[in-house]
Amino acid sequence: MKLVRVALDVPLPRLFDYLAPDANPCDIGLRTSVPFGSGNKVGIVLNVTESTDQPVAKLKEVHALLRDMPALPSSFLAMCEFCAKYYQAPIGEVMAFALPPMLRRGKLPKARKTTPDLTRQNVVATPAKVDGGRKTSGQSVPTVGLPPLLVAQAAAVDAILNSRGFCAFLLHGVTGSGKTEVYLRAIASVLERGGQALMLVPEIALTPQLQARVAARFPYAHIVSAHSGVPDAARARGFLDGLEGYADIVLGTRLSIFMPLPRLQLIVVDEEHDASFKQQEGLRYSARDLAIWRAHQLDIPVVLGSATPALESFFHAHSGRYNLLELPQRAVAEHLPQVRTVDTRREKLQDGLSQALIDALTLRLERGEQSLIFLNRRGYAPVLSCPPCGWVSRCHRCAANLVVHLADKRLRCHHCGFEAMIPRNCPSCGNVDLQPFGRGTQRLENILAERFPKARISRIDRDSASTPKKWQALLDAIHAGDVDILVGTQMLAKGHDFPKLTLVGAIGADAALFAADFRAPERLFAQLMQVGGRSGRADLPGQVLIQTDYPDHALYQALEDGDYGRFARVLLAERQIAGFPPYSFQALLRAEARTVEDSLAFLAIARKAALTIADPRVTIYDPVPMKMQRLMTLERAQLLVESTNRPALQAFLSKWMETIYSQRKVGGLRWHLDVDPLEI
Ligand code: ADP
Ligand code: ZN
Ligand code: ZN
Repeated sequence: MKLVRVALDVPLPRLFDYLAPDANPCDIGLRTSVPFGSGNKVGIVLNVTESTDQPVAKLKEVHALLRDMPALPSSFLAMCEFCAKYYQAPIGEVMAFALPPMLRRGKLPKARKTTPDLTRQNVVATPAKVDGGRKTSGQSVPTVGLPPLLVAQAAAVDAILNSRGFCAFLLHGVTGSGKTEVYLRAIASVLERGGQALMLVPEIALTPQLQARVAARFPYAHIVSAHSGVPDAARARGFLDGLEGYADIVLGTRLSIFMPLPRLQLIVVDEEHDASFKQQEGLRYSARDLAIWRAHQLDIPVVLGSATPALESFFHAHSGRYNLLELPQRAVAEHLPQVRTVDTRREKLQDGLSQALIDALTLRLERGEQSLIFLNRRGYAPVLSCPPCGWVSRCHRCAANLVVHLADKRLRCHHCGFEAMIPRNCPSCGNVDLQPFGRGTQRLENILAERFPKARISRIDRDSASTPKKWQALLDAIHAGDVDILVGTQMLAKGHDFPKLTLVGAIGADAALFAADFRAPERLFAQLMQVGGRSGRADLPGQVLIQTDYPDHALYQALEDGDYGRFARVLLAERQIAGFPPYSFQALLRAEARTVEDSLAFLAIARKAALTIADPRVTIYDPVPMKMQRLMTLERAQLLVESTNRPALQAFLSKWMETIYSQRKVGGLRWHLDVDPLEI
């Protein structure tokens, strides 16, 4: 009697057995369509066996083993299994997540028009018309038409290409230091050897610019883009191209870490510190951490690149676990932008702008150069208030203020999406003179327009660039030189080169200095460094002005000196004293319910269960309401567990989850576990 053991997309941490008379061992990894409950489901065969602990008479037979797609390789299944175990998620849910939706439904995209030639040579050959390049030592790779690498770049490429088997590299270099060039040379060599390369980039950095750069470098390679904006059929096609070995390079966001690539020889994670590599809902995995695991499993090199590495990566690189590669200078522009703080304690600001910033803007306008003012807060004003009675615009579903959006006369909650018209008068006392309080990008745009009436000003945030098309139009306008002053959020920070941009001003940055989240300063440094790096990328020197009330803060001091390492060491010392990551490992159990008492009660039960299986190496804290307690009408609380020993924490978590899994949805209460949470 032949049976298959199937992973199905259901919220249960188990597999399901079905009769499958014509199954054979090489069917592991096939999709299968099976009856489930009163309907059907498509799952993945994880085992072909003859024995079961279920009563045989009750077993149903599969409808079909779907042989129209090659079986998923064991390395793919192993990664899903690891992911399920590490993040304490049901295996069927992980596999369903890892597959493109179309394949998950048991369908296939249209057949290819032409069958790619897998025996083709010269995937990396540069077009013959470019010539005159010089070869750099230690490579076999065609570098015709490319500039010679800098010494540090060449050393990095050599180290990556000469690594034997698994090796994790941290490529640390400021924006413009030539990290991407290092990736491209390493990828070229991998393709030359007949391998496949996977390059992960943050959500926001997968720009047409980057795609074009990769495509131009490898005109004969098959490049697959994988991100959430790719339409269903194309995503499934890309997955199959990877699986069947046709794809040479996969360029994608976090979800592409799951892409099966039988000849994978190199993984690159660009901007590895970026928070978007960690999914914040559903399966809360870290694509960066999975990249390390996958490279280890396949015994291949993995390169993490950043100007401001995550403290975890910085720590590993400096303690010898990762191999540190540093690019100390910019590849083209002579100088890094000059970074200077503007002490705002001694000055009466004009609509939030310091005289130094106004002067610098004026100078850029006179010279016909571009400026960027970075304010990481969209909308017109963070809150609408009634000064006489003290009313403020609050979201009734969240513990948050409603943000004033004057452009379309609405109040919006940035957490749950609730919106309403701006009231004519105060809902509480009837006063007609309501005041927007504070400043967002829309207001800053107006302020600048009043102060610089001749300047062409463009705002870039999630409201103005709400679709890829609008975003592209804005970028085109900037590149065409139709914009003098850009006002924007962190959307502008990544992956864009603006050759005429010579000034970056940052306002309102101090808020993150004293945030409760211990990762906030690390993130602020990265943001400011990244946004500052937008200036002076071509032949014009750049300047960065940061308005602050705390010019002596270690963060700003290190930023002025362009010395991330110094600040990282300060932060590491603080984390060591506090016992925070990377000196410990954490997991958060979060609960949400109609009342915070319900959430806390559930967590109290979970804590009790935890104490009975407690390992002395694991610390179990008390349940507490979350910082932002109410979200979308639900009251949220959390329970932190922590250990300096990762295997001990892992073992504890599996046991713990077993005891509380059955209570996944009790009486309107929902909970989830977040392993290695980014926000506490
Ligand atoms: P990063 O990824 O660190 O921001 P890039 O690889 O994008 O840096 O390099 C920044 C700019 O310098 C790009 O325009 C790139 O083409 C150029 N560049 C990189 N390496 C060299 C080199 N060795 N010689 C000349 N130009 C280079
Ligand atoms: Zn809300
Ligand atoms: Zn009022």
